[in-house]
Amino acid sequence: MIYYIGLGSNLGDRLQNLRKARQWLSKQGVVQKQSSVFETAVWGNVEQNAFYNAVVRFDSHLRPFRLLRKLKAFETEYGRKVSELWGPRIIDLDILLWDGNEIDNAILSVPHRYLEKRAFVLYPLAEIEPELILPSGIKTQTLLKQQFVGEQIKKIAEAW
Ligand code: ADP
Ligand code: MG
Repeated sequence: MIYYIGLGSNLGDRLQNLRKARQWLSKQGVVQKQSSVFETAVWGNVEQNAFYNAVVRFDSHLRPFRLLRKLKAFETEYGRKVSELWGPRIIDLDILLWDGNEIDNAILSVPHRYLEKRAFVLYPLAEIEPELILPSGIKTQTLLKQQFVGEQIKKIAEAW
């Protein structure tokens, strides 16, 4: 099954946190593609460190709810190791897409609710899958051009 997973971090060594998460994902399945890492300012909250975000294409036999449990377990385990701080995210792992399937549930909602609204998801997703058709029927690269011109997004690293 093909998943697209969004990775985010705004605390500690952000690039290293994303790298650790990607390495961990490689043990749960196959990371087939990985986007560059992008930096986005936190909207409406200047007190928080800017986020680093990336998206990976992930092939796994894990069913979605099992995958979600594993993602949450990794977030907790990895988060606790790095810092006792509560608040900003050391690592955030979200399921963006699961093949062409839909789940509408209190625990898991796929496609991710903010998939088409957030530049920090669209930029990395469109980079690895420009032709992918989003749930609204539009291609990632088209939506990006239409909706997200001039967003405060900076490419940090292509290889990570
Ligand atoms: P956020 O990602 O919005 O910053 P969290 O990572 O704390 O916040 O997620 C809150 C909850 O969102 C999770 O406990 C999870 O049950 C739920 N959730 C719903 N849909 C998804 C999804 N597609 N991917 C990841 N979590 C999801
Ligand atoms: Mg999350």
